[in-house]
Amino acid sequence: AALYRIDRWGPPYFAVNSSGNVSIRPFGDATLPHQEIDLLKVVKKVSGPKSTGGLGLNLPLIVRFPDVLKNRLESLQAAFEYAVESHGYGSHYQGVYPVKCNQDRFVVEDIVKFGYPFRFGLEAGSKPELLLAMSCLCKGNPDALLVCNGFKDAEYISLALIARKLSLNTVIVLEQEEEVDLVIDLSRRLNVRPVIGVRAKLRTKHSGHFGSTSGEKGKFGLTTTQILRVVRKLDAVGMMDCLQLLHFHIGSQIPSTTLLTDGVAEGAQIYCELVRLGACMQVIDIGGGLGIDYDGSKSTDSDISVGYTLEEYACAVVGAVQAVCDRKGVNNPIICSESGRAIVSHHSILIFEAISASVSTLPPAISSLALDYLADGLTEEARGDYQNLSASAMRGEYDTCLVYADQLKQRCIDQFKEGSLGMEQLAAVDGLCELVSNALGVADPVSTYHVNLSVFTSIPDFWGIGQLFPIIPIHRLDQRPGVRGILSDLTCDSDGKIDKFIGGDSSLPLHELGGGGGGYYLGMFLGGAYEEALGGLHNLFGGPSVVRVSQSDGPHSFAVMRAVPGPSCGDVLRVMQHEPELMFQALKHRAEECLHHEEETAAGLASGLARSFNNMPYLLPGSASSVSCGFI
Ligand code: PLP
Repeated sequence: AALYRIDRWGPPYFAVNSSGNVSIRPFGDATLPHQEIDLLKVVKKVSGPKSTGGLGLNLPLIVRFPDVLKNRLESLQAAFEYAVESHGYGSHYQGVYPVKCNQDRFVVEDIVKFGYPFRFGLEAGSKPELLLAMSCLCKGNPDALLVCNGFKDAEYISLALIARKLSLNTVIVLEQEEEVDLVIDLSRRLNVRPVIGVRAKLRTKHSGHFGSTSGEKGKFGLTTTQILRVVRKLDAVGMMDCLQLLHFHIGSQIPSTTLLTDGVAEGAQIYCELVRLGACMQVIDIGGGLGIDYDGSKSTDSDISVGYTLEEYACAVVGAVQAVCDRKGVNNPIICSESGRAIVSHHSILIFEAISASVSTLPPAISSLALDYLADGLTEEARGDYQNLSASAMRGEYDTCLVYADQLKQRCIDQFKEGSLGMEQLAAVDGLCELVSNALGVADPVSTYHVNLSVFTSIPDFWGIGQLFPIIPIHRLDQRPGVRGILSDLTCDSDGKIDKFIGGDSSLPLHELGGGGGGYYLGMFLGGAYEEALGGLHNLFGGPSVVRVSQSDGPHSFAVMRAVPGPSCGDVLRVMQHEPELMFQALKHRAEECLHHEEETAAGLASGLARSFNNMPYLLPGSASSVSCGFI
């Protein structure tokens, strides 16, 4: 298990149990071992056939743990409450969850429910996000904030104003200067007194990958000059009382508390200036950025790590706001954060299966007959290389051997291309060169494990921005892995592979397939934020199946509360405007026409086709054998 660094990135939720399987501690408490859930047992239960008590879902699979979500929310709240108390801070913390991090209905509903006791709210960045936030918050705490960020048109602003009419604690955050005119006009027409926030462009710049939206040239927010113009406009129409919130966002994955303190202090100065200018300021919204330590290295100069804990983050924020406001004699504002990654990353695990491996094995023995035959067909130069290769091998000059082997191979490829060498001879040369590399210990020792997954659908940030997540086998962790491998997905795309892993490794220690009797399951951890919504449909591989799992009565027992199969072939075809029902009818009709003298076969084909439209696009279990393919 140490090989996979679980002890660094896993606590307090992930560990390895005595069976060598990953176990989940849904309450983040290592002192409650009887509450650990064996992840392999969950996977077996969910993917096992219905005939043996399983749920019959296909992999890949997302396993959600709502208890982990609850624990994350409570830990964030507790960290801020502790910081407020220990600083003697004059107000409270009241966070919002940016739904863009994971808009799944049950994730958002859980957050609203778990956050009720501490008035936890939601942040939306688009019209559909606003609609979902409005409807979810109807069941939320009436004081919970509904922060409306993002570029807005009249419809977005009208929706936000309607939300206020529905007694949701809505704040329209001006992201562009022009939005203020729409807010003034529409609020009059709809007869609603709006609560307005401004998003400030900070000068503080986050230098990591996620910092491109920060700094003076950042994509979002108002410059100092624009904020002043907005204030004058609101003043002129008697709406200064509406301006109550200052928002800024330093960038996601803020690496250190030094940068955090710097940015928050700058934001707090702007907040105090707005108070001085006559706004009725109540809330400082510090945006997202609370980071996740994906590799557990606690490093401050990496995009996948952060050098602070939740508690240190909260203390830095509270301390920075308080210092500025107290110096200026401004009442301590409510502190709001839009922490997304930090709330949802841990709660779900993506499980996928390795289906086969191209293991670098010893090449087949080459008989002297094959070699003679090979030598016969070679050009004079190539034959020279072959003889030199043999001679240097006899003399023990191994470096020279490699040079001649490479040269020979290239000449043979050229010969093959021009048609003077057959496939058998080319294969014999490949075998010979591999034999030489293996004998000299320079063969590529990395195997390729084919996985039943689409990187583009399920780990899009790896493909798009090189984001690394902990990926490990979820079982056999008590056995030493014998192979190093990279993971290659199902898509017909050379980018559909994972060849970089946390710790800077370009391969992953893996176990030989077939050992342990059954499938070989891998898990991608800490991917609960962003990955689900960002994923695409490359090669028409849709999303994974999803289950929600909770601890239940009895030691180590769990309950699967909701199990939803991933989109079927028909579902993904529909996204691209195809009409699966019509497609099926057309194919069925064709089968009946072509097989009019074989009625039963035609009917069998039609029901096989129907099953294919209904099945997920991923490889089905055991489908390498024709027995389970549904047509025969
Ligand atoms: N708020 C805003 C305005 C953002 O742009 C983002 C993401 O970049 C977030 C909140 C969430 O950030 P994080 O997931 O780092 O907490």
